[in-house]
Amino acid sequence: MPNRRLIIGTTNAAKGRELAELLAPYHFQVLTLKDVANPIDVVEDGDTFAANARKKASTQAQHLKSWVLADDSGLEVDALGGRPGVYSARFAGESATDEENNRKLLAEMGDLPLERRTARYVCHVALADPRGTIRAEAHDVCGGRIAFEPAGTNGFGYDPLFEVVEYHRTFGQLGPQVKAALSHRARAMRAIVPALLRLSRAEPW
Ligand code: IMP
Repeated sequence: MPNRRLIIGTTNAAKGRELAELLAPYHFQVLTLKDVANPIDVVEDGDTFAANARKKASTQAQHLKSWVLADDSGLEVDALGGRPGVYSARFAGESATDEENNRKLLAEMGDLPLERRTARYVCHVALADPRGTIRAEAHDVCGGRIAFEPAGTNGFGYDPLFEVVEYHRTFGQLGPQVKAALSHRARAMRAIVPALLRLSRAEPW
């Protein structure tokens, strides 16, 4: 049986790698938007992770006439009233770098004590069929807190500052295996995979 094509609706290379890795045990030919001709540049203007994930999956699937899985994710910091939330990628401004976002986050946290530095990563994943209809979704979180300074070089985004409660270390220090077990993205993917497998067997793909 030929591998079924599944496009990951992201241009974020690090996120695409993590999603492809999480899908590796299954029978899909996983492509990202970098591998396809003329993807649409979807404007992420939703108020929620769910709205953005659905929009990214649905718009891209309809345009590419293919099954598309999209993730919208970000960081919610309690002391900042849930910011940066859906604005995580552009916290320090449009096209901000990870370093700029991390610097701004540290500046906003100031010297708040450890117990007030609680945060969570949030991930919503949505799967759209080639007509653009959302056929499955999942949502999950990973709890942690914001460290006082960056540590480690693994991962991307806020990973050097995001300390995982269970380990007292940042995802930057912990590396890909631990992240693949504990992250918001890993948990949301574990929740959506049964529906993804069921649909890929039951539907023309
Ligand atoms: P999105 O591409 O609009 O979903 O933006 C996601 C943004 O949230 C990223 O650019 C990061 O700033 C942040 N983010 C989401 N997931 C992670 C993660 O696993 N590690 C670090 N930062 C993340």
